[in-house]
Amino acid sequence: MLRAPIQHCRHCGSKVTYQLPDDGDTRERAVCTDCKTIHYENPLNVVGTVPHWGDKVLLCKRNIEPRWGKWTLPAGFMELNETTSEGAARETVEEAGALFELQNLFSLINVPRVGQVHLFYRARLLSDTFDPGFETLETRLFTEHEIPWDDIAFRTVRATLEMYFADRRAGNYQFHAIDIT
Ligand code: ZN
Repeated sequence: MLRAPIQHCRHCGSKVTYQLPDDGDTRERAVCTDCKTIHYENPLNVVGTVPHWGDKVLLCKRNIEPRWGKWTLPAGFMELNETTSEGAARETVEEAGALFELQNLFSLINVPRVGQVHLFYRARLLSDTFDPGFETLETRLFTEHEIPWDDIAFRTVRATLEMYFADRRAGNYQFHAIDIT
């Protein structure tokens, strides 16, 4: 989702206007009308995993908006003071309560339209029992043919699943960097 425009200065609380700063910057920024602070807005990272068990992949049914009731890989916004792999592991614990061994980075997907970069690691499940948190209605393991393709929450998840099963059929997992426009 696109973030809402900044309305008020985070330093002094006065109104901001979107304008070209005086320093030669070529993009309009949120500039405080009072203290002149420039509020820069930059993309956010979403980090997650492809947890696999034999020929199956673990999906979580979302208990939160957006896309309530749709299926997703465990993933969420990276936090400050963590690495991408730590964030991916944290989300997998929080959303699925899974036991796993984190593996290589599998997909990096730019989504410039919403200012996000999504990163998914492969994760080898060590157990097929799960303890999902409040963000998840249900966890389930799916073979490629069982995947509910029409009920996948996000295009980045769908693309990652498609690439994962294609690599699985080829017997060779590669790193994939793609853009979704
Ligand atoms: Zn201000």
